[in-house]
Amino acid sequence: MLVTRGYKYELKVNNKERTLLGKCAGISRFAWNWGLAAQKSRYQTQTGVTRFTNAMKQHKELNRLKHTDFPWMYEVSKCIPQEALRDLDRAYQNFFTNHQQRKRKQTIRYVGLPRFKKKGKCKDSFRLTGVIHLFPEVKQVQFPRLGKLRIKERSNFPLSARILSVTISRTADRWYVALTVKEEQSDCKPNGGPIIALDKGLSVFAALSSGIPIARPRFLLQQARKQRRLSKAHSRKQKGSNNKRKSALRLAQFYRRITNQRHNFLHQTSTYLAKNHSVIVTEDLHVKGLMQNKKLSKYWGDLSHGLFQRLLAYKAPLYGSTLIEIDRWFPSSKLCSNCMYYHRNLTLADRVFHCPLCGLVLDRDQNAAFNVANYYTIYQFLLFPVAESSAETLNACGEVVRPAFKQARVVESGRTAPKTVGNDYP
Ligand SMILES: [Zn+2]
Repeated sequence: MLVTRGYKYELKVNNKERTLLGKCAGISRFAWNWGLAAQKSRYQTQTGVTRFTNAMKQHKELNRLKHTDFPWMYEVSKCIPQEALRDLDRAYQNFFTNHQQRKRKQTIRYVGLPRFKKKGKCKDSFRLTGVIHLFPEVKQVQFPRLGKLRIKERSNFPLSARILSVTISRTADRWYVALTVKEEQSDCKPNGGPIIALDKGLSVFAALSSGIPIARPRFLLQQARKQRRLSKAHSRKQKGSNNKRKSALRLAQFYRRITNQRHNFLHQTSTYLAKNHSVIVTEDLHVKGLMQNKKLSKYWGDLSHGLFQRLLAYKAPLYGSTLIEIDRWFPSSKLCSNCMYYHRNLTLADRVFHCPLCGLVLDRDQNAAFNVANYYTIYQFLLFPVAESSAETLNACGEVVRPAFKQARVVESGRTAPKTVGNDYP
């Protein structure tokens, strides 16, 4: 099976190359801003279908102007402005598609209009296509016009893969190259490990149905004092000064380090889970909603549960495992994992679950993890075979009202399980 995958490496650049990459990012930003300004003025001055253009027409127009107005654009590859204009075109298409979808009430997500990019405020990056080669034995990548650039690590890059495009970007003072490739993925054997369920939370990163929780890392919170000191020092520097530039770099390096630590933890945890378990059952957490709680958002943000879920989703099929996401409305915390009693009055402050019916006393998150595991067992053996014949529960608007066993998504095959009538809890 052919799959699209990304590989990211850090570039080992000297001062000359660093200047050149900065120039490329600047030209990409200029092309985006030029295209956006042209599109905006076209929209205001013209009528009908001529109000809109596309990336190809805009690139032709830019090429005509290059000779006279922007001769410095010839210093870099023609792909850079071309790809920037394509990105702009896609941004407009995303805006219009989202507009239509929201009109039809198909999504609640909001996609805004593309905006101008400002030097120093936006991320420095550009995209390249064309003849790109990676030479792992000499740790080099060859780009059009830029020539050969060194990468810092001996890569695990598959030589049979076809490179579609590369994105070169800067984080603090380091430059990275991300290659998008199409490669063959062989079917792996089904994983023979046990089934595991996890309940993601704040007090522990995840409570596992095996009984051993994954402790909560505190990457940013642990260094909150340093963050405060660096931010304060940066805001006190004079605008436009060399010291301001230096303090901005120190702050960016600090954040890069935190992000790297977090990504390392998430990758190691998700790989461990995918490698050693046949089925991973998780809750579909509404991270965006959780982040709106002003008091807790920094704690949720430090854990990156959203990214963790995405990592699990792509790693599970790689190791022959199946990821099952259960509905976010499933009351995993409020059910007793022993007798299924529904504890209606349980609050967030109750860290220990006391069951009034069977007398179970268990840590709240651990109880939730057992419930997620129970859900999977019931879903697999009871609900799935009868799902075809059952009707959906609809409300006046035609939306599915939140039945507890509403749906579970099998991520491995990308198919959604049939929606079934919810089980009524006592
Ligand atoms: Zn009970």
